[in-house]
Amino acid sequence: MNIEFNDVKLGANLDHKPTASSSAPINTLVRPADKISNFIRNIIDNDNRSDKWGQRVETRFPPEPNGHLHIGHAKSICVNFGIARDYGGICHLRFDDTNPEKEGIEYVNSIIDAVRWLGFDWQKDNREHLYFASDYYDQLYAFAELLIQRGKVYVDSQNAEQIHATRGTLTMPGMPSPYRNRTSDENLRLFRQMKAGKFTEGAHVLRAKIDMASPNINMRDPIIYRIRFAHHYRTGDVWCIYPMYDYTHCVSDALENITHSLCTLEFEDHRPLYNWFLSELTDAGVFTRPLPQQIEFARLNMTYVITSKRKLLQLVEGKYVDGWDDPRMPTIVGLRRRGFTPESIRLMCERTGLTKANSWIDFGLLEAALREDLDEKLPRAIAVLDPLKLIVDNYPLDSEEMCSAPVHPHHVVRGTRVFPFSRELWIERADFNENPPKGYFRLFPGNHVRLRYGFVVECTGVDKDNNSNIIAVHCNYFADSKSGTQGSNHYKVKGNIHWVSVAHAYCTEVRLYDRLFKEPYPDANGRDFLQALNPNAKRVVTAYLEPGAQHFLPEEQVQFERHGYFVADCVNSVPGKPVFNRSVSLRDSWGAST
Ligand code: ATP
Ligand code: MG
Repeated sequence: MNIEFNDVKLGANLDHKPTASSSAPINTLVRPADKISNFIRNIIDNDNRSDKWGQRVETRFPPEPNGHLHIGHAKSICVNFGIARDYGGICHLRFDDTNPEKEGIEYVNSIIDAVRWLGFDWQKDNREHLYFASDYYDQLYAFAELLIQRGKVYVDSQNAEQIHATRGTLTMPGMPSPYRNRTSDENLRLFRQMKAGKFTEGAHVLRAKIDMASPNINMRDPIIYRIRFAHHYRTGDVWCIYPMYDYTHCVSDALENITHSLCTLEFEDHRPLYNWFLSELTDAGVFTRPLPQQIEFARLNMTYVITSKRKLLQLVEGKYVDGWDDPRMPTIVGLRRRGFTPESIRLMCERTGLTKANSWIDFGLLEAALREDLDEKLPRAIAVLDPLKLIVDNYPLDSEEMCSAPVHPHHVVRGTRVFPFSRELWIERADFNENPPKGYFRLFPGNHVRLRYGFVVECTGVDKDNNSNIIAVHCNYFADSKSGTQGSNHYKVKGNIHWVSVAHAYCTEVRLYDRLFKEPYPDANGRDFLQALNPNAKRVVTAYLEPGAQHFLPEEQVQFERHGYFVADCVNSVPGKPVFNRSVSLRDSWGAST
């Protein structure tokens, strides 16, 4: 599908919205994970063939520590770290921290955790490749002085509005600043005074002297330094001038000897600027060729979520969700708490491939990857989420006996789990129907069903309250029908329902999560994404679980049979008292009225 890029050229905030003609989101997994080939790998293969970099592959993931990472960043992480890993190279984790007002150490820590959790690290040959753009402030400053001396940059004393007004448009060239031809000496003096804190914010900026008539607006004398009397979380109050992204980024790449600087498509129009700075600094003797190559790929756009930090912040601040790690959030911390695994996220990222054209990935793909990852791994347990009492009238009052079930149905070696059967059981309300429609095989008066891993029972009647609500169901059991015992399969029944013993069940809170938005493109075409919030994205129930479920530790995962994959919540669980989050249902039932 097409994204309108005019916005980008004008430097406006990019909203990743589908156009009216957008094609349907991609909802099939394209290629097996072990046979990845894409245009970036082709470039690297060519570089290796020509020995451009001496077979070296060095990438970087450059987050700004101004928020928590989201699923879109996971894509970038998988691309950058994945490529470095596959080529025996290294990916740097670099904090692009040049906006002091919005950045903080809590975000640095969260990002470090997220990258590690996703399964990547930045160590090679006992060397840590963890970097901060703020560590380059001295060099960036020195290089800026060098560029001043070489007549490549100048101090502009126009204010922000004047600079904006003279930038021109896509169809009209910009107008040169009246300060454009200041002498190097004057520029140097002013720039040093800017650094020394002699001016107020906005009084002057440092600009590259490129081409005010360039068809690419990014090349019309972009600003490279501005005055900000702001405290930086790492450099404190040492600086009152801060470098801009376009200048900082390419210089950081070159300082770190990055070979391939992979970024998202919105930076395509910034590439000439990236190359301009590096080329000028090479001419000045700072860097040597070959220089890092910027290569753009399409960002990950995912249906039913938003991947803009600003909008995610709005959800948090407006209390539409319970924080950044709310299991409904597409943040890494949220996905993790929801029970998404690093494997499932990496699988989705690998399978959705790399392209040069923006497209939409169906959220169902991530869910499918999770199911695929979890199905083989997770132990099974029983949970009754919407309880209705079933009384086995012919079972002795004070008696109980153990039933057993496999921990995993396909892996007998993983052993069995045991849980008691007794006279009073919880079953799902939906597994009983007093007036069953045709084809209903579960419990109804007169019908036989198997209580999974237990006995066959015959439904004998119901108890109702004064308002005719069913409060209990009665049945009789067949003592010789116990699953796994000889002769039990003489009983032929169509229905098989799950249950837990009332006296033994572990009663706890279970959160049933669903998609945060009820529409696939919640922020499409500038619309108010808050209107698209799914009011049923979080349902909290009191559930009755198989007794063993009580021993799950935070972040341990389980399949509750018939209900889906769940995880013991890492925030609200206390030892011996886990609460559970549903990560995903067993199959894709989105949109179906289940
Ligand atoms: P936001 O717009 O939400 O603030 P950002 O791109 O400004 O995100 P950064 O911290 O600058 O956030 O991003 C770090 C890296 O992650 C960048 O290289 C960026 O291109 C990449 N990235 C961000 N969002 C996506 C996405 N949806 N798909 C792929 N890569 C992404
Ligand atoms: Mg950014």
